[in-house]
Amino acid sequence: MHHFEYRGGELYAEDVPVRELAERHGTPLYVYSAATLRRHFEAFDSAFEGLDRLTCYSVKANSNLGVLRLLGAMGAGMDIVSGGELHRALKAGIPAERIVYSGVGKRPEEIEQALEAGILMFNVESVGELERIGRIASRLGRTADISLRINPDVDPKTHPYISTGMKKNKFGLDMGTAMATYLRARDLPGVNPVGIDCHIGSQLTTLEPFLEALDKLLDFWRALGAEGIAIKYLDLGGGLGITYDAEEPPHPREFGRALAERLRGLPLKLILEPGRVIAGNAGILVSRVLYTKDTPSKHFLIADAAMNDLIRPSLYGSYHKIIPVLEQERPRRAVDVVGPICESGDFLARDRELPEVEQDELLAVLSAGAYGFTMSSNYNSRPRAAELIVDGAEVIVARRRETCADLTALED
Ligand SMILES: *Cc1c(COP(=O)(O)O)cnc(C)c1O
Repeated sequence: MHHFEYRGGELYAEDVPVRELAERHGTPLYVYSAATLRRHFEAFDSAFEGLDRLTCYSVKANSNLGVLRLLGAMGAGMDIVSGGELHRALKAGIPAERIVYSGVGKRPEEIEQALEAGILMFNVESVGELERIGRIASRLGRTADISLRINPDVDPKTHPYISTGMKKNKFGLDMGTAMATYLRARDLPGVNPVGIDCHIGSQLTTLEPFLEALDKLLDFWRALGAEGIAIKYLDLGGGLGITYDAEEPPHPREFGRALAERLRGLPLKLILEPGRVIAGNAGILVSRVLYTKDTPSKHFLIADAAMNDLIRPSLYGSYHKIIPVLEQERPRRAVDVVGPICESGDFLARDRELPEVEQDELLAVLSAGAYGFTMSSNYNSRPRAAELIVDGAEVIVARRRETCADLTALED
């Protein structure tokens, strides 16, 4: 569910015509719906109502400060993967004790920054990282609460680039060595093992892999208890999928019910790290068609948004629904929607049946709220798009459009 709908023949973002936003703020343009973000967070978080829990929104999905502030105000914690994301979360006013720090390659200065801030815990992914956190914490006269990220060797049946909990992936500790690492953590000064963590992948469309991973983690948790290691937190990561095309991912309620069956009564606080399911369908990318072009084999729509703005189609072959901002009955035809970048991999859609669109018309690329702007770049020296948050009839410029001066500001 989202709040981008046709009204009276044109697309609206909540109560504002998208055409007006494009005329006023230019294209390409990211537009987020505050009501949709709130609704998704509420639907997700309330699905686990009976359980002691903390929902830590995954900052990398959409790290705009306006988005973080909105979710923080609803009680969200944050899952971060870098010092830059820690900076954003703190700047957005998120209390440090609601921040968990994941990621396979934390730098020493990032570890120090997080210790100084007083985050809830580190999700540790290697022995080397564990020892480094212990050393840094000891030097600072602190003890770092940590969990170990377990790689449960579960196939999440998603795109290979975003599956993270299989044996061959770089993430986490395999179950064979995890126990020895917990024992090491128990005896190591500067760290205190308080949690157990996994994150098996993104855009999962069934619950089975989550439950398989959970069962493995619970078995492991019992084994830890037998070793006298008292665990408070069970972090199941993120990964719940969304509908881009025809996927039918489980509703958070089903997820909540399935977890409650297994966790109710256990002395564990559940941590979840949803990203895509909160932000994905809460954003669109608005683009203007610069040219239409027929070749003997294809009909191209050359849009002013490109792979530097939204890389998911190029990187993962992802599907994003594309609709004209102006709703009109018209014939359909198969087109490639491409951007201005000098790569044949620069496309937003291929061989897509779309209503016939004219030069200078506006298109909306849907489901672009997660892993859209955050993965954008300046390739081809393209200033990055502006980001707006629409809240009812109110429009907030959440990030101004970059200028050419911004492009060279660090090189002058
Ligand atoms: C990316 C990531 C998430 C969020 O994944 P979604 O699929 O967006 O929900 C959560 N936890 C970790 C550790 C991640 O790397």
